[in-house]
Amino acid sequence: MRILVLGSGAREHAIVTSLLSEEEAHEITAAPGNAGIASVVETVALDPTRGSVVTEYALDNDIELVIIGPEAPLVAGVADDLRRRGIAVFGPGKAAAALEGSKTFAKRIMDAANVPTGRASRVGSLDEALEALDEFGAPYVVKADGLAAGKGVLVTGDRNAAVDHATYWLGQGSVLIEEYLAGEEVSLFLLSDGHNVVPLSPAQDYKLAYDGDNGPNTGGMGAYSPLPWLPENFVDEVIDTIAIPTIRQLAEEQTPFIGLLYCGLIVTKEGIRVIEFNARFGDPETQVVLPRLVTPLSSLLYAAATGGLPDHATPVFSDEVAVTVVLASEGYPENPKIGRPITGLDAALAVPGITIAHAATAKKGDEFVATGGRVLSVVATGKTFAVARERAYEALGHITLEGSHFRTDIALRVAE
Ligand code: AMP
Repeated sequence: MRILVLGSGAREHAIVTSLLSEEEAHEITAAPGNAGIASVVETVALDPTRGSVVTEYALDNDIELVIIGPEAPLVAGVADDLRRRGIAVFGPGKAAAALEGSKTFAKRIMDAANVPTGRASRVGSLDEALEALDEFGAPYVVKADGLAAGKGVLVTGDRNAAVDHATYWLGQGSVLIEEYLAGEEVSLFLLSDGHNVVPLSPAQDYKLAYDGDNGPNTGGMGAYSPLPWLPENFVDEVIDTIAIPTIRQLAEEQTPFIGLLYCGLIVTKEGIRVIEFNARFGDPETQVVLPRLVTPLSSLLYAAATGGLPDHATPVFSDEVAVTVVLASEGYPENPKIGRPITGLDAALAVPGITIAHAATAKKGDEFVATGGRVLSVVATGKTFAVARERAYEALGHITLEGSHFRTDIALRVAE
């Protein structure tokens, strides 16, 4: 198949790696890709958020499937442009992508579909915000309504900080004040063709910068999959009570969701609750879900894109586990130092079970340099979490990037 992957992060590198691992050989192009992706497939310098440019490229190059990685092209309506021209695309149109782009829209869909989620108030003024904060009480959950590049959510016991956060985001638009939900967080990806869903394997990510869940919030510092502590019927319950009702509601409203429904969940004492939906593969969870997928990824994504996902099908996953650890630049997330050389990647890749997904790297001569905060994900598979962790950290021990940091406790809780 001729496949175009849009995006430039570790998630897209992991998608490309998975496509390349299939028995069938594909012709893969990534736009714009990154230095790691460019070392394995062709990349083109296209702006992935410009629908007309992407469509023209896809038509000129007989692309049979477009896979949209990040949210920006989805929210810009790139999938709609491609679909209008008859190109198979894995990724929802603009209207359905509002499930991620607008928390108010997501809440309305969940209410209409009876999907269990936290109670929330949408507020437009500071007075309303103060009232809602007092109604829900501490810990406070304050969220920007629109896309906020991961900076929109504050969970805090400090009322002044909650008020400051609400004040700042009220300056940009509306704000949601939510009930605090206590419990374990789970990310579950489901592929949808607009009617049916097919679940991938659950994963857990680590959002805070430092060991022991300390420090500032980040885009994600690591992840592992599967989750041995989940109840056996967990995935079925999410399908029945969350994914199918959501997908059906969107279809009923003439905004079918074709793509990846990312359910960000909390397992509370009262049951499973949605904290958020995303409309695309999550990063870094993708890096631990796809290496375990045995069913060819392209066949699943193509079936979703063309309306042919079989009812109640479950993809095959290997019985290996996967752990990923993100290497971040000095100063990440506040003020990452960039431009520094990265060495030791070949030695890291020589460790058994290791792949590396590049996120923010560029090639300078023969050398890779870091170009952003989250630089790369080291991904390790193994028979047990103890083995996978050992491999991941052995590989990281070979990589040098001045001032860089990573968490040392990824998947530790399941490795005993
Ligand atoms: P979100 O961007 O909505 O996923 O929120 C980012 C993070 O904030 C989540 O991964 C949770 O750790 C936390 N969070 C969001 N909403 C809640 C909530 N209602 N209760 C507790 N924690 C939350």
